[in-house]
Amino acid sequence: MKDGFGRRVTYLRLSVTELCNLRCRYCMPAEGICKKRHEDMMTEEETIRAVRAAASLGISKVRITGGEPLVKKNILSICEKTAAVPGIRQVCMTTNGTLLAGMAGPLKEAGVARLNLSLDTLDRDRYRSMTRVGSLDDALAGLEAALSAGFEQVKINAVLIGGFNDEEIPALAALTKDYPADVRFIELMPMGTEFGETAYLPCDTVLERLPELRPEEPDGGVARLYRLPGAKGRVGLISPVSSHFCGSCSRLRLTADGKVKPCLHSPAEYGIRGLDEEGMRQVMLQAIQAKPRQHDPLWEGQGSGAGRTMNQIGG
Ligand code: SAM
Ligand code: SF4
Repeated sequence: MKDGFGRRVTYLRLSVTELCNLRCRYCMPAEGICKKRHEDMMTEEETIRAVRAAASLGISKVRITGGEPLVKKNILSICEKTAAVPGIRQVCMTTNGTLLAGMAGPLKEAGVARLNLSLDTLDRDRYRSMTRVGSLDDALAGLEAALSAGFEQVKINAVLIGGFNDEEIPALAALTKDYPADVRFIELMPMGTEFGETAYLPCDTVLERLPELRPEEPDGGVARLYRLPGAKGRVGLISPVSSHFCGSCSRLRLTADGKVKPCLHSPAEYGIRGLDEEGMRQVMLQAIQAKPRQHDPLWEGQGSGAGRTMNQIGG
């Protein structure tokens, strides 16, 4: 299905929970979030109905996210049923990885093909400070488990934060020498973050710090791709702030409380709770037609217009 600007919408970011076992400073307030009532959240049955509705509109790729998808008790069942929906060709997941050891194999069995693991630092104290409660060892155990489980692809995502992890750019990029995984640096977005604009670093900082990076062919994704000499994986630069990719946006989002969002940075949301599949389909159609041409500049004026924190949307 094409939107009003001729962009084909094929990719659903499906948030299955707002809850998380971590409290990353750029994502969530220290006290966590005000827990919504269970009955206000999508049921598993509604979630799968929504995936079927999305697939009928041409969505073929689903990324399961949150909050932290692995805190959701029925996550394996959601993955398995999502992967079984006719028309869905690829199911991926974004996770902080801290609960992944022991779950990587079952997730693969349940049909998850690709995994993105968030890891902003390789320093134990910094990891604890950034996540407020997390353990780097758990995240690294998750990474090892992901790499052994035989996923089609494992990517490591690091948000670039000036004064926090910029000195670790070489060490994080060097993970691509040890592991057959891409490392992607992502620009910090102003979404309920504890950090102000001074912490924002454009992705070009990575190119300045690592002049040995060599460009690689684009693979159709949002990252500009490079490789360190002899590395197994690639280094990706994702620049939602310095050079947004709205022109090729193929995404629709569904929040854990049943709101379809046409754009990450727009307050527009369309409720689908309680609707049958055709009703959900109609609402998604409306949301696709309402996709804006582009979002306003981030870190300027009002910043993101999302109206929710990242964990409440599904990053
Ligand atoms: N809990 C999972 C995780 O951390 O991977 C999935 C949800 S998390 C909201 C998805 C992604 O959003 C993570 O890679 C995280 O680093 C990113 N993210 C959260 N807040 C962000 C911000 N303010 N700017 C840029 N990326 C952000
Ligand atoms: Fe949780 Fe992911 Fe947000 Fe960190 S970025 S608080 S792990 S949802």
